[in-house]
Amino acid sequence: MGPYHARAMGNPLQDRRTAVDFSSVEQVIEIADKISSFESLASIVEADLDALDPDKKPSGWRDSAVLGELQFRFRDADRCIPVLTGCVTADVAAVCQRCLEPFQLELEIEPTLLLLGAEQSADGYDDIEVWELEEQTLRPQDIVEELLIMAMPLSAMHDNMADCKAFETAAPSAVEDAEDLVRPFAALRSQISQNEKDPDE
Ligand SMILES: [Zn+2]
Repeated sequence: MGPYHARAMGNPLQDRRTAVDFSSVEQVIEIADKISSFESLASIVEADLDALDPDKKPSGWRDSAVLGELQFRFRDADRCIPVLTGCVTADVAAVCQRCLEPFQLELEIEPTLLLLGAEQSADGYDDIEVWELEEQTLRPQDIVEELLIMAMPLSAMHDNMADCKAFETAAPSAVEDAEDLVRPFAALRSQISQNEKDPDE
């Protein structure tokens, strides 16, 4: 461990402060992290990868990069309305729901969020999304993690048909069958009980 070990230097992403505190110093947070630092996200990715045969499971998926930058500012001259902006990308391993092969999915979030307590009004800022704070303080990492989880597709699939094995080998009817397979993201992200379908081959 060298002198530049990140944890020893402190990581503002993991600081717990009020939104006003972050905005008062116009906090900028550079993110150069790994999926493994985002435990809830990692457990969703892992549950998805568990559907794969062990030999197909991509090794090192926990080390995939989460990169970006966050900025805290005030939206108003009175310095009462904190706003969080930024851009974060994350490479997550996923299972294509068409061909059931692993692939790398890039998630990208570009938040512009008013950080408001329940008692604060967003009147006059109708065009900006409000992130309602449940507690006095927040951890930027928690917001990033929740946004990344929300950015995950309900049903991950290869973007490019040329990469997707379903289009290589299968007849069109088999592709349709693959789309009916269990969708772990959807199951995890909602408490709604689903009609469990067993794909009868
Ligand atoms: Zn595919």
